Amino acid sequence: MIETAIAGSLPKPEWLAEPEKLWPAWRQSDTALEQAKRDAALLWIKEQEDAGLSTVGDGEQFRIHFVHGFLEKIEGIDWSLKTKMGIRNDRYVVDVPTVTAPIRRPKSVHRAEIEFARLHTQRKLKATLPGPMTICDTIADGHYGKRTDMAFAFADLLNEEVRELEAAGADIVQFDEPAFNAFTKEAADWGIAALERAAAGLKCKSAVHICYGYGIKANIDWKKSLGEQWRQYEDFFPALNRSRIDQVSLEFANSKVPGELMRLLPDKQVMVGVIDVASNEIESAEQVAERIGAASQFVDRDRLIACTNCGLAPLPRHVAVGKLRALGAGARLVAQV
Ligand code: ZN
Repeated sequence: MIETAIAGSLPKPEWLAEPEKLWPAWRQSDTALEQAKRDAALLWIKEQEDAGLSTVGDGEQFRIHFVHGFLEKIEGIDWSLKTKMGIRNDRYVVDVPTVTAPIRRPKSVHRAEIEFARLHTQRKLKATLPGPMTICDTIADGHYGKRTDMAFAFADLLNEEVRELEAAGADIVQFDEPAFNAFTKEAADWGIAALERAAAGLKCKSAVHICYGYGIKANIDWKKSLGEQWRQYEDFFPALNRSRIDQVSLEFANSKVPGELMRLLPDKQVMVGVIDVASNEIESAEQVAERIGAASQFVDRDRLIACTNCGLAPLPRHVAVGKLRALGAGARLVAQV
């Protein structure tokens, strides 16, 4: 059997939020909104199960954005004090909120969501959170003075949170660190140490998702500038292999990442992206099987988790469903031979 999982996010049904947007507006409010989020999570758990995935999640139906969904519940952040910041190494300029006081987590952010998902699936359950370096690249610092001080403060908060998510039934806790690919040297210097602090003491599996971003124009343009071979992972995979993080993801489908870079992770489970998220074209099972076959030249099959390149959030719902099914069918095809 080849294990299967998704990076995390799935489209919001159109009765929950505006479709095909990265920052959609909710279409419900108050208790109707809370109910609609649970209904959406339930339908995506069912779709993932029916696609035959071995690990499932809530599709991030409870949060508008993968970073701000966590930050919204954290004290010490002034949301009205917007700072213009070029994030992911100036790939996009956005108005971000500002940390103005020591950060504090008054209560768990995602615990109830994981408890809800746990109630509805027997499969392995993955919880996703932004990693400390990516958080610090998505928020301005008006308090700590040093980026690493703020990152480690967030790592401590994340650690409190993931211990609760583990207690609520998560089998895997994943940190999303797209910022690693934009700041590869800093990732090796302190990003991985911050990640380990965030995952300290966990008995369940820990994972890190590092991608080249959603299939939006800014990312597609950036990828075009990266040349014939994308070797960003090479700068920090050796340090990640020495870390205590159990699972590491990489983009592989339609990417220019050389497969041989997977050899830098001999002691890890490798989540190999075999589903492209930058295209609405639905892969065939054979195509997925072919990509898994190509990756298995570099990773033993018992360490390989067939995965999506990144989240599926901005895609049309039927496309995301098709891609989930292709992922499951492709993995079954490989297992047959
Ligand atoms: Zn991603």
